[in-house]
Amino acid sequence: MRDFIVGLLEVIGIVVIITAVAYIGTSIEKASDNEKYNNGECYYCEHGHYELINVQRQHGNIYYFYKCNNCNIIIELNSNIEMQAL
Ligand SMILES: [Zn+2]
Repeated sequence: MRDFIVGLLEVIGIVVIITAVAYIGTSIEKASDNEKYNNGECYYCEHGHYELINVQRQHGNIYYFYKCNNCNIIIELNSNIEMQAL
């Protein structure tokens, strides 16, 4: 019985760790996307605004490409910032 409880606690511990790592990974990704997106204002020329120009699926991930309407620089994000804002 004791072995069963120890085994159960180990499984719970592993699940908690995996969930925590996945959560932290998602949070870091969103934070870096927010930083890149800079509320839609171009970080490079500081005059333009980013517009969604392309969405690509690669290896199960979705990438969102935004282009500045002033200097035409393109940034790549891992999440759709505009959708999150709605
Ligand atoms: Zn720009």
